[in-house]
Amino acid sequence: MPAQILDGKAVAKAIKEKLAAGFAALKFKPKLVSFAVGVDDGTTSYRKSQKKQAEALGVAYEMVDLPESATAEQVVSRLRELNGDPGVTGIILQLPVPKHLNGEQLARLIAPQKNIEGIDEVNLGAIVMKKYRNIPCTARAAVELAAHSGVDLNGANAVVIGRSTIVGKPASLLLLDRNCTVTMCHSKSKNLKEIAKSADVLVTAIGTKAGMVTGDWIKPGAVVVDVGIIDIGEGKIRGDVDFDSASQVAGWITPVPGGVGPVTTQMLYMNLLDAAKVQQ
Ligand code: NDP
Repeated sequence: MPAQILDGKAVAKAIKEKLAAGFAALKFKPKLVSFAVGVDDGTTSYRKSQKKQAEALGVAYEMVDLPESATAEQVVSRLRELNGDPGVTGIILQLPVPKHLNGEQLARLIAPQKNIEGIDEVNLGAIVMKKYRNIPCTARAAVELAAHSGVDLNGANAVVIGRSTIVGKPASLLLLDRNCTVTMCHSKSKNLKEIAKSADVLVTAIGTKAGMVTGDWIKPGAVVVDVGIIDIGEGKIRGDVDFDSASQVAGWITPVPGGVGPVTTQMLYMNLLDAAKVQQ
């Protein structure tokens, strides 16, 4: 029987409703700052959708922009001001930044309680310590979708392919906290296909070749969460998983597009809500 679809759009809609109730219950209006250096087409359209969602949730949304020519010192100084501003609840540094700057390093200078993307030593370390703060959004979305299948994660064999700081590592830790037995794989892993085939829950966060994970990598009935986004041209994207063959074997599967992506966006606001509650 073909797999059931883990529909990211439907899951995102349900989370949105919870978020709206959560923000409405706050005693103050939180503010999200979108900080950008220079102009980037992708960032501009991403900011439009961020703003729309912020407004729908009753969150103030402010854009802070520095020119393309801004020096690292100028960016750091502005970030420090935002960190120290009690009126700012959460900050997103929009990537990419101009080539003379290091976006990853700059993002790590956002105060941890305001770093709602959660990619810094404090927030990542907090996962290891089981003292959750802002959780990396994509990893959180992947695990949320796996849980949404309704499959009991307790004691399940989870295989995560990819070990990045943004997705693979935090997703593995989150699955471990759900009592999965986790195997983390990467480009040097041997017998990848056999390991993948042992997974009750398979999370792929690779991004090198569209459809690399085919149906013969999948354990019958497994939950497959495809985080990968690969541009295949003509404005189309695909995932790491070959949907057609994998969906004949898996029990549940996320599509690309329409799987992890829409849930990731909601996780950003989930982190903002959590940050607002702490700051309140
Ligand atoms: P990275 O490039 O940082 O990490 C990729 C990981 O995949 C690495 O650990 C790498 O191993 C591993 N890998 C690469 N090739 C292979 C292979 N042939 N076999 C096994 N493992 C392999 O990417 P990210 O983690 O940032 O992103 C992963 C994917 O997820 C990308 O497609 C990205 O676009 C997508 N993404 C999707 C998001 C969403 O919202 N849906 C958000 C963020 C990312 P090694 O460490 O050994 O190099």
